[in-house]
Amino acid sequence: MNYHRYLCVIFSGRNNLLWIEPINGSVDYTYHNDVNAHYSLIDHFLCSPNLVTVSKSAHILVDGDNPSDHWATYCDFCCPKLASRHPSCPNTMLKPQRDKANTDSYTELLSGLLSRICLPIDALTCNGSKCCDHTAVLDAYYNDVITCMYRAGLNTVPHAKVGIQKHWWTPELDDLKQQCIDATEMWKSAGRPRSGELNNIRIRCKFKYKSAIKEAAASAETAFNDNSTTICVAKTMTVSGEHGAKNLYEFREAYWCY
Ligand SMILES: [Zn+2]
Repeated sequence: MNYHRYLCVIFSGRNNLLWIEPINGSVDYTYHNDVNAHYSLIDHFLCSPNLVTVSKSAHILVDGDNPSDHWATYCDFCCPKLASRHPSCPNTMLKPQRDKANTDSYTELLSGLLSRICLPIDALTCNGSKCCDHTAVLDAYYNDVITCMYRAGLNTVPHAKVGIQKHWWTPELDDLKQQCIDATEMWKSAGRPRSGELNNIRIRCKFKYKSAIKEAAASAETAFNDNSTTICVAKTMTVSGEHGAKNLYEFREAYWCY
C-alpha cells in the first residue's frame, strides 16, 4: 500500500466513509495525458459504507467518444430510503424542444382530447351579473384544458435532457465521434497499448474530434455575439437616429443591418 493510498484509507475511516476502488481488471488510471505519457488515478468515489455491498465497485469507462483527458467513472449505489422528488420541485431534467414539435400531430391530438372534456354550460349561460356560483366548475374546466395541452405536448413534442443538447452539434462531429469510438475499440482490443500505431491513431482521432468540438462551440459563440451586437446597434440607432454612425452604409455593411 503506498503512502497516499494509506492516507486515503485513514481519512475515510476517521470520517465514517468508504473509499470505493475500481473493479478488478479495470484500467488503473482515470487521468491520462497522452502527450506527456502521464497516467494517474485521481477521480474517486467516497460514500457511506451502507450504500455499497463491495468496496471494489467503481467502473472506469474507457470510451472513445469521451474527448476529455479524464475517463468517466460510475458506481451503483443502493439508496432504498432516498426521498422522492418534492412535489413543488419541477422535473428540470427534461425540457420540451418546441421548435422540433410536430404541430399537425399536436393539433390533432389536442382536438381529440379537448372534445372529451365537459363544457361548463351552466357557467357559460349564466345571466347573473355578480354570480359567484361557478368558480369551482370554471377552475376544473381550466385545469382540464391545461391537462389536455400537457398530454398532447408529451406525445408530440420531443424532450431533451437539460444540458445535454448542443445546438451547434453537426453531423460531421458525429462522424468524428464515431471514428474516435472505433479507434478506441481497436486500441482496447489490442490491450490498450501506451505506444505504437494503434495508440497513435486513437490519439490523432481524439485530437481531431476535440479540436472540431472546440471550433464548433467557438464559432457558435461568435455568431451569437455578432448577432447581439447587431441587435444592440440597431437598438441604439432606433433611439438616437444615425448619430454616432459616421457612414450608415458602411455601418450596415459592417453589422449586416438590412
Ligand atoms: Zn351563475
